[in-house]
Amino acid sequence: MPGRGRPSKRARNKSGLKNQSRAARSNPSDSVADDARRSSSQSSGSTDQDQEESEWAELTRIFDGLKLQYSEEGSEFEGDDDLEDVDEQSEWEGLEDEEFTEVLAAMAIDEDPNDHDWIPEKIRKKAERRRAMNRKARPTQYVKGPDVMNKSKRTQERYRKSMRNQSALDAFGFSKKPTAHTPEQPAPSTSNNAAAAVTAAAGASTRLVQTTLPIPAPKNTRTRSASILSDPSSVDEIEEINPPQESTLPGTIAEDAHESEAPRDSPETAGDEVLDPGPEDWEEELETAVRGSGQDEIRDWDVLRKQIKDELKKKSRTLPLSRVNQLFILQNFATLRLKGFSRMDASREIARQWHEGEGVWFARRVRALARHYQIFEQLPIEKRGGAKNARSWLHDESVQARARAWLTAQPIGKVTPRLLRDALNSVIFPELNISPKAPLSERTARRWLIKLGWRRTVVRKGVYMDGHERDDVVQYRRDVFLPAMKEFEARMVRYEGPELTEVQPILAPGVRPVIAQYHDECCFHANDESKSLWLQPGKQPLRKKGRGRLIHVSDFINEADGRLVLRDASGSIVRDARRIIYPGSNGDAWWDNEQLLKQVTDAIAIFEAAHPDCQCLFIFDQSSAHASLPPDALRAFDMNKSNGGKQRKQRDTVIPESNPTVELRGRPQKMTTPSGEAKGLQMVLEERGFNVSNLRAKCSPVCPFESQNCCMARLLSQQDDFKNQISMLESLIKKAGHECLFLPKFHCELNPIEMYWGWCKYRYREVPKANFKEAKEVARQFLDACPIEVIRRFINRSWRFISAYRLGLTGKAAEWAVRKQRQHRQVSQRAMHAIESILS
Ligand SMILES: [Zn+2]
Repeated sequence: MPGRGRPSKRARNKSGLKNQSRAARSNPSDSVADDARRSSSQSSGSTDQDQEESEWAELTRIFDGLKLQYSEEGSEFEGDDDLEDVDEQSEWEGLEDEEFTEVLAAMAIDEDPNDHDWIPEKIRKKAERRRAMNRKARPTQYVKGPDVMNKSKRTQERYRKSMRNQSALDAFGFSKKPTAHTPEQPAPSTSNNAAAAVTAAAGASTRLVQTTLPIPAPKNTRTRSASILSDPSSVDEIEEINPPQESTLPGTIAEDAHESEAPRDSPETAGDEVLDPGPEDWEEELETAVRGSGQDEIRDWDVLRKQIKDELKKKSRTLPLSRVNQLFILQNFATLRLKGFSRMDASREIARQWHEGEGVWFARRVRALARHYQIFEQLPIEKRGGAKNARSWLHDESVQARARAWLTAQPIGKVTPRLLRDALNSVIFPELNISPKAPLSERTARRWLIKLGWRRTVVRKGVYMDGHERDDVVQYRRDVFLPAMKEFEARMVRYEGPELTEVQPILAPGVRPVIAQYHDECCFHANDESKSLWLQPGKQPLRKKGRGRLIHVSDFINEADGRLVLRDASGSIVRDARRIIYPGSNGDAWWDNEQLLKQVTDAIAIFEAAHPDCQCLFIFDQSSAHASLPPDALRAFDMNKSNGGKQRKQRDTVIPESNPTVELRGRPQKMTTPSGEAKGLQMVLEERGFNVSNLRAKCSPVCPFESQNCCMARLLSQQDDFKNQISMLESLIKKAGHECLFLPKFHCELNPIEMYWGWCKYRYREVPKANFKEAKEVARQFLDACPIEVIRRFINRSWRFISAYRLGLTGKAAEWAVRKQRQHRQVSQRAMHAIESILS
């Protein structure tokens, strides 16, 4: 592994066992039982309960990786210079340089004056001109000292004589250095041992290793030649082991050896990822291939060179310049190799043409490129840019919406491309049931950030920092959610005061009592353990790739039974509305709307069996999965500008009462033409009286943030009938005669099940899990262990927030009031007076 490179990929620790002493692993079922006992004993004393509740309030916030932590990042990212756009451009992208093409072509002509038919004429002419103008003299042979053995017998004798009386250089203060050439050394095994030894010795810190380690022995540095960039089997690689530029940096090498064995997440190595250019995807692909394939399949450079030339000849017009240059590099590399140059010399020679001074790094990339071509016989696939038909998930409206919602929910100045990447990969994609071929890279996340219009200035303006007080959110909370809850609350059984005394509602005849079922989804990671994970400086849990497989839980809690279950006469559970799945590459499919609908159908049946005289109020948060519309829903962004074509046929609608043209209001509008084709944006809008002659159909790549009528699609999507469509979830529940209500966005505190997840997760993390099977058991045990009193207190806490909002309190004031009135279900008027006196 070259000094400045990134350590090669390691198999990640998926077992959760690494670095864990056997003694620390107790029997999980014991601790579950202990915990349950502790909890139930606590439930008798209300002060303890309150203590516990507020503790969970804190913990939910800290530990629920999926929901609340965004607002709780500490200052750990302050050192993160992600926002510098240093590596926005891909390395080979910078290769779009016409001059370099000419230099490379000139070089090719130089190397092979009789064979340059393959060079596209335009390039050839330019190259010849350049060659004539100033040709860099390049030694045909690299000097390696006097070649005594090729001289005559007499000369050889003369040399021998002159050397005879030479005293050792040590006498003059020179000391012998270990030689770099160790051709006999079987590389990989020794290097691993050496590296392991280094790690073992390192123990405490890398810095110590750096200062105390002697200049590494050659076998130590041999580690690097086992990297993807070199070929351990070829002799000329030995030169690469210790190129002069790098041999002077023992510290770097030692650190490298250390890093390659140390856990990736150790704080010492954390910063490297940012500074390091890092390999591109194709380099990883290459590495896998090198490990997997036999070396015999690799063809010689003369065969490959013909292929490269053909490719250049045929495609030089259509290929982007960076690809042409890559081909030229390969062609020149092949020629030099065929002429007997070592890989090192050939790559350095090409690097020298590119830019004096950046030799080592560029040369390495040249060798990697050459190796890639040798193995795959094609250029590395450029994963970004170029391909026009590659559809970016960014174009997906729901992904966009979620990404934006996530971004706006971040604290000021805490948005980084990396955090966005992590949020997309671990939260947004899974929740939208999207599984991209490969996880989104940080680089892509950065581009998205920019495309979404996100600049630091936007963050600084801090319009909606936590989203809580965003106009639309406030409006929904005030006009829809709170009034609805007030009505339902009057029909609910309440559990009031420190003793959670049951208070029955007074119902008018014929009115059914209501039981609210708070729904949410939650993920447990197999490897999630203990708080220490969270205390590493500069680390964030979402970012950890080694969290292990997922345990995805979707469940309901309620005041009557705790969880939504059906019990028999003896009190044991006969039916359970909870769904636990294990999604992932080898597991179940990701949780999606279809599974949710199935779960809710079951939940309705269970509820009706358990509480035949009651009406159920299902409460969901406003995730887009919950808002999924039926397949024939109205969706403006799915439409084309003109009629017909491939666009999906949408259901007919009625022009809404909010339409600007009064005469058209309330008129039915067909979404298909008389000939049966789907109507396009233009026609639909014109039929509603809009003049769209100067409006483009859709913005590219996305609409500007918060715009209303930048394009036809946006304009139409803002119309009431497009905007307010009933989700499949809602219509399923309403058809069954029950109620459905969505929480205001960003208001996790109003969903008590979040607290329940926090309660379970905290205990789950405290238990070491040996494997996934154990993790599943532990998760299930804690999910079942939460006492009903605790759940009722969680629900009361949400009610206190509701009453605080009703009183007009928001943000910190609401939180304060909720905390002050811990014993109650409501925030009292008195608490509000107290706050007012503080504020005024
Ligand atoms: Zn637009």
